[in-house]
Amino acid sequence: MEDPWHIQREHMIRHHLAARGVTSPAVLQAMREIPRERFVSPSCREEAYADRALPIECGQTISQPYIVGLMTQALAPEPGHRVLEIGTGTGYQTAILARLCAEVITIERFPALAFQAAERLRDLGIWNAFFLCGDGTLGWPHGVPYDRILVTAAASHVPEPLWEQLAEGGILVIPVGDRERQTLEVVRKVDGRPCWYPMIPCRFVPLVGQHGWNEE
Ligand code: SAH
Repeated sequence: MEDPWHIQREHMIRHHLAARGVTSPAVLQAMREIPRERFVSPSCREEAYADRALPIECGQTISQPYIVGLMTQALAPEPGHRVLEIGTGTGYQTAILARLCAEVITIERFPALAFQAAERLRDLGIWNAFFLCGDGTLGWPHGVPYDRILVTAAASHVPEPLWEQLAEGGILVIPVGDRERQTLEVVRKVDGRPCWYPMIPCRFVPLVGQHGWNEE
């Protein structure tokens, strides 16, 4: 049977992603394969492919498709990589990463979100993503080092544990700024030092934790 969301998904790929610089064939293919409509709440389903963030449970948001595409492309995940993701949310970004690399370890502070995200990926037959619940600003030392680290919540700085857990030559993508406004930063570890590449202004929900913001 024809997938009723196919046209909207292709529209997203062409107009919100490829036309705006997300051109990596692997990233576009992964975003073509993941049904975003299964990750948004039922009340927003009609807007699943609109190019904007949508509200999810626990007062959080699922990121806009363009931002998901841009972050994934900037992260440059490769098939052999192990990736650490902070801020699972719905698991949409997790599912895309899982398509592109060997293993994703994802950490979410709200148990309800982590649980639902794990269920969604299981239903999609994605088995190389591992879900943890807790403060992602501490990373997950048992899995070090990570080839790539993606933070999908807003930080005032790169949390020290995450920097330590990034492999030499690895890439970390993170929104850095204040609670209201940030810049999407790509940080590469070169000879143990950070090499910064700022991308675009952005707005994420805060990274709340020991090395992040305080709960409000
Ligand atoms: N990438 C997600 C959207 C993430 S929204 C998606 O595709 O749906 C950011 C998420 O980061 C929220 O779910 C929030 O609860 C989580 N978060 C914030 N601070 C965190 C922390 N210290 N550790 C783990 N998760 C955190």
